Amino acid sequence: MFCPECGSIIVNKKGKLVCSSCGYEVKEGKIKDRQTKKVDKTVKVAKENPEVLPKIKAKCPKCGNEEAYFWVVQTRAADEAPTRFYKCTKCGHVWREYD
Ligand SMILES: [Zn+2]
Ligand SMILES: [Zn+2]
Repeated sequence: MFCPECGSIIVNKKGKLVCSSCGYEVKEGKIKDRQTKKVDKTVKVAKENPEVLPKIKAKCPKCGNEEAYFWVVQTRAADEAPTRFYKCTKCGHVWREYD
């Protein structure tokens, strides 16, 4: 890896990626952005706190109830449409819908 400022070698200094010549620091986000985050965790949190979620008129495919909590999760790359999740207020069934 090379410094975008001066072209010198980037070294790992106490967990930070810093240019050995000019001291340019590579921002952490640039490396982490490449990893795709798992959505499972976000969904789990939302399930555990259904009372904080907004309600919407949506028909549950399982029990036919017409009201559901919903939340939106950015599943893949930021330029892709987020996925909307629903949770039935009656039976707790969770399903997803693509916009
Ligand atoms: Zn440099
Ligand atoms: Zn239901």
